[in-house]
Amino acid sequence: MNSYSEIKREISAGKSTCHSLVASYLKRIEENKHLNAFLEVFGDEALLRAQEVDDKIRKGKSGRLAGMVIALKDNICYKGHRVSASSKILEGFVSLYHSTVVERLLAEDAIIIGRCNCDEFAMGSSNEKSAYGRVLNPHDNNRVPGGSSGGSAVAVAAGLCTAALGSDTGGSIRQPASFCGVVGLKPSYGRISRYGLLAYSSSFDQIGPLTNTIEDAALLLEIMAGKDEYDSTLLQKESPNYTEEYKKADTGKLRIAYISDCIEHEGLDPEIKAQLEKTIASLQVQGHIVEPVSFPFIDYAVPTYYVLTTAEASSNLSRYSGVNYGYRAEEAKDPDAVYKKSRSQGFGKEVKRRIMLGTFVLSTGYYDAYYARGQKVRRIFVEKTNEILKNYDLILLPSTPGTAFPFGQNDLDPVKMYLEDIFTVQANITGLPAISLPLGMHSNGLPFGVQLMARKYDEMTLLAFSEKLMNNKA
Ligand code: GLN
Repeated sequence: MNSYSEIKREISAGKSTCHSLVASYLKRIEENKHLNAFLEVFGDEALLRAQEVDDKIRKGKSGRLAGMVIALKDNICYKGHRVSASSKILEGFVSLYHSTVVERLLAEDAIIIGRCNCDEFAMGSSNEKSAYGRVLNPHDNNRVPGGSSGGSAVAVAAGLCTAALGSDTGGSIRQPASFCGVVGLKPSYGRISRYGLLAYSSSFDQIGPLTNTIEDAALLLEIMAGKDEYDSTLLQKESPNYTEEYKKADTGKLRIAYISDCIEHEGLDPEIKAQLEKTIASLQVQGHIVEPVSFPFIDYAVPTYYVLTTAEASSNLSRYSGVNYGYRAEEAKDPDAVYKKSRSQGFGKEVKRRIMLGTFVLSTGYYDAYYARGQKVRRIFVEKTNEILKNYDLILLPSTPGTAFPFGQNDLDPVKMYLEDIFTVQANITGLPAISLPLGMHSNGLPFGVQLMARKYDEMTLLAFSEKLMNNKA
């Protein structure tokens, strides 16, 4: 069973129960332990909760997610459960409160089955940077699943849960979705509360779903979206009823821009390029206006992203000091040594690299040259991308330059690793909603995605058109 609507059908036909569903996921998780997708499985607890939800279903009192079995990325707080951002510095730390998203999922009777491995503090594109070991791609165990929400993408792709939550700061939902062949939605910045998400880069981070279907993504978006007094960056308007409306939304013939600088990019795999061109041609045949636009700034996306996000990370991660909570170095004798040793031992290499880079770009003397300039470039990205979206409903672009790469490939060259995000960071720099949809299979046997980006807060068009594209009816 792949989608929540199938699950619901089976349950209401009496052919399945939440309890048997959870039991079968637990069995699959056990069989796929080698993938290392989960850091912790809440097995007994999930079974108990499944029974409670089964009871509610029998009484006709169940919520809209009864029977939806969800895995959380290990940077989303679930009260009374451990959360570590896959870092040693938070080893053993237990959440004191629910993140807003978890609260909303539970209120609708979702069952949370475990927490998923990810790159440490969501910094990475391969899930090789977790303090708890790498995650394997289920399509080829010698390759990465993508990152940083790699465990979440694998959990969905390998059928270990119905859906998973990830977070996307520069592509961490969409890139692993593309590498694993699932749907990954990054909502607009300001659509879903970040309360209870361990912050990496607060003006970029968004929580979103990884699912098998658009319908499941729409449902999870609907339930998680909307005002929250704990996150002042949220849109203050009521969010739409996506599930009801997106299928009815008659998007008609759309105007779609594709960024020629992306499609023609030298780093793009030729087979992915050919498949995107085929998609473009078939959309044109169906009567959509699909035109090339130029966005010559694309090569500035990754540098801008790394200046701004590392700056924010250096500030956000200063709270992990070894003093209040998390890992504390045993042998430290004075406060200075507590900070130094705890942070040196608790953080991994990539996280340290980013904290240092971020501290540097914010430092007196370099602030204007890097951070302030980065902010100005961000503004240009917003203006230029919105200019395109004045004339077009959607922007189509690749999700990733290639398919999942072998472990270790980018070990020696962090910049090469950073370039994996070249097509995804634009949506985070601009705060626009974007989705990666499974587009095809490469001759190397691996899946890859196509990415769509919409106007700010126009997830409706994104979902409606995605559904058509997935059903080949666009
Ligand atoms: N791969 C990007 C990075 O390493 C994106 C991470 C993310 O979206 N969380 O920063």
